[in-house]
Amino acid sequence: MTTTAAISYRVQPYHPETYTHEVTDMHSWTVTAADGTVISELYVDMTTLEVRNIWTHEDHREQGHATALWTAATEMLPVRHSHAAHRTDDGDRFAARVGGETAPCTDDCDCDAPTDDDYDTED
Ligand SMILES: [Zn+2]
Repeated sequence: MTTTAAISYRVQPYHPETYTHEVTDMHSWTVTAADGTVISELYVDMTTLEVRNIWTHEDHREQGHATALWTAATEMLPVRHSHAAHRTDDGDRFAARVGGETAPCTDDCDCDAPTDDDYDTED
């Protein structure tokens, strides 16, 4: 790890300044560059401790920021990846790269049923 960026932790809804309908607090870890720009962030559900969002700015990928966030998070809490069927493609790649625990599917979820999610079509 050669990053000089700082990791900070706080509890906040997902991008509340952008998504004003998001009011559910989450654990969040953020990598901020020296100039204050957010370059990577990790959001985790406060109840299930599942990863809800992982993102790294396109100019800062492949530099270990997301892995550093995962390390910081798992040192603090038993954070888990979402069940594979619930992940985005980015989340899937992230989970494969960093390893760690994966949450089970919830009882009321039917994600084991066949879907057309690969094509992301609308009805
Ligand atoms: Zn499921």
